[in-house]
Amino acid sequence: MKNHPVQISAIRDMRDWSARTHGEGCTIAFVPTMGALHEGHLSLVRLACGHADRVAVSIFVNPTQFAPGEDYSTYPRDLDRDTALLAEVGCNVVFIPSASEIYPPDFSTNVTVGGLTERLCGKSRPDHFSGVATIVTKLFSIVSPDVAVFGMKDAQQLAVIKRLVRDLHVPVRIVEAPIVRESDGVAMSSRNANLTPDERVEAKLLNKSLQAARKAFSDGERDARQLKSIVGDILAVSTFGRVDYVECVDRETLKNVDEVVKPVLLAIAVGFSRARLIDNTVLKP
Ligand code: AMP
Repeated sequence: MKNHPVQISAIRDMRDWSARTHGEGCTIAFVPTMGALHEGHLSLVRLACGHADRVAVSIFVNPTQFAPGEDYSTYPRDLDRDTALLAEVGCNVVFIPSASEIYPPDFSTNVTVGGLTERLCGKSRPDHFSGVATIVTKLFSIVSPDVAVFGMKDAQQLAVIKRLVRDLHVPVRIVEAPIVRESDGVAMSSRNANLTPDERVEAKLLNKSLQAARKAFSDGERDARQLKSIVGDILAVSTFGRVDYVECVDRETLKNVDEVVKPVLLAIAVGFSRARLIDNTVLKP
């Protein structure tokens, strides 16, 4: 059992901690999360420990990335459990800001990453990535990390953040972490808790469909339409899930590709009754 991380909720205290840490000559790695932590999040924290002297994790269910009617109010929250888990993996500070301090009533600035935020999940969640880009910009400004770790699970989010860091000259290095899966292949997600037992069984189809496309790809298939139809045919078996998209896109621009001639992202989203699941795989020729 390691030391419990220090809990900070005021923005000024978080800034003071970062300034003090840098003043001591230490580097900071940062892992932003919305809590309800699982092994996927913890893998990011472990990775972060190898990239800097100190690790800060934020837990903030960001209201601006949820549309009205989405699961903001039902998003799982369990701070005591989260901090106990973080104590085991070497986190030094947990930043838990309040929504009222992050978004005062007269807040009016948003970050939009044109071209990337409209694609894939952006089609059905038009304001989502602007909410993500805005909160991540704010957190970078408050925490001042040297390195920040994000999961490949949210591949579009990663592309958006890499672009905003580049475009806005944010002095932080982005490290990407592989997807952590349950033993049956389902990508770990805080939202899996909102699946019914029947839906949880069907959730296996997401990874199964991606694996089938990977197999066809390793057998030489390079046509994006064919690869997408392999995925789509397997997802079509689902009774409870509604396929939102199956896309084969460039990893950086998220633009559709016709043929896989360089590494591409094969990404899917499936909506269930109370949870929308995303998953992806990278195909490298
Ligand atoms: P969230 O709490 O869902 O906002 O996720 C916080 C961070 O954890 C993001 O960088 C996610 O991509 C990452 N993450 C979530 N689930 C997984 C997973 N199964 N494997 C790897 N990283 C993940």
